[in-house]
Amino acid sequence: MLSVQEAQKQILSHFNPVETGLCPLDQALGRVLAQDVLAGSDLPAFDYAAMDGFAVRSVDLAPASASPWTLRVTADIRAGDFPESPLQPGECARIMTGAPLPPGADAVIKVEDTSHKDASPGTPAPAEVVIYELPSHAGNIRRRGEDLHQGDRVLEAGTRLRGQELGMLAMLGEAHLTVHRKPRLALLSSGDELLPVDAPLTPGKIHDTNSYMLSAMAEALGIEVLKLGVARDSEGDVRSKLMQAVDLKVDAIVSSAGVSMGAFDYVKYVVEKDGELGFWRVNMRPGKPLAFGHYLGIPFFGLPGNPVSSFVGFEVFVHPALQRLSGLPLRPRPALKVQLADPIVSDGRESYLRAVVSDQQGRLVARLTDHQGSGNIFSLVRANALLIVPSGVKSVPANSELEAWLLE
Ligand code: AMP
Ligand code: MG
Repeated sequence: MLSVQEAQKQILSHFNPVETGLCPLDQALGRVLAQDVLAGSDLPAFDYAAMDGFAVRSVDLAPASASPWTLRVTADIRAGDFPESPLQPGECARIMTGAPLPPGADAVIKVEDTSHKDASPGTPAPAEVVIYELPSHAGNIRRRGEDLHQGDRVLEAGTRLRGQELGMLAMLGEAHLTVHRKPRLALLSSGDELLPVDAPLTPGKIHDTNSYMLSAMAEALGIEVLKLGVARDSEGDVRSKLMQAVDLKVDAIVSSAGVSMGAFDYVKYVVEKDGELGFWRVNMRPGKPLAFGHYLGIPFFGLPGNPVSSFVGFEVFVHPALQRLSGLPLRPRPALKVQLADPIVSDGRESYLRAVVSDQQGRLVARLTDHQGSGNIFSLVRANALLIVPSGVKSVPANSELEAWLLE
């Protein structure tokens, strides 16, 4: 039997990042950068007022004992203006947040600290203003380049773009980015008992759960999912679904069920007959047999049919492969150290148990969501973590430390 780590390693050796291309910024959410981004300009690009108020020459406010000070207001600078005439001694400019400082100004007095503090929107600049307070030490100015400098490496290849990265790239004027295209995944369920969610159940039938669950999990990782629906338990139907995946030129195929020892488990049979199948027993729980192979050259995962087993199989094996296809760097999934609330017995297989992790006075405590049967999806829904019991361990006393993966 393969260890989880060995199986992951063998699977990953079959995946490389998909091709790259230019993508407009407003379509780049969730995409993975294929090139480093160097800043094309300083940010901020010019010194500007951090407050609405009055731009001053601080020499005009010395000595402190002379407060308050009265200055002539000789300019009115709005965000978007570009002031060119320097302030002269005794002069100041009304200035709005985001507006460039006029030459000669070295501080901004916030409007609340002046005689102009009660002005309502649209009030013209006064001819004179009384200043009651000295500026704070930074002078309420944001300096050119204080955030980043032209030429700085601000994002590395392999970064998944979130709103905050897109905001910075917009600020830098990067309208197009070199990213990996979205990997394409074909997804199928298999089994004569499965009906779509909107079909009324007849005796003996159940609703196809895995198609909906696994496609959502893949889409959340930025994958384009092509749903092939349910293959009936027949050689012909399974083959025609797999051929559809080939025609769609997907990067990987994920199917669930039909890979165990049942008399009608045709998925395993067809993949083995038409392609290559590494049919594995992985030393893990839950996780009945997990199949990995290739169907006419396309990497193929055969996850177990029970929904919780297919969820765990996806998280442990498919998720890292999809990350690799997406262009993300391969890193072990971040795990939290948690303390067990109650003792656990295990069977020596590496186990991924449904648990709730909560903060109890600074300690992260894990408690199983009781029924761990691999068809019991409600206990998965109630869990916020998968608690990992290492292989070879058969009992874990209360208060022991284990690792857990948080579920999003
Ligand atoms: P199998 O691998 O075909 O033996 O299926 C194992 C168990 O998982 C059986 O109880 C199936 O009914 C169930 N199962 C298989 N596929 C699905 C699915 N897509 N949604 C919900 N349950 C499933
Ligand atoms: Mg079946």
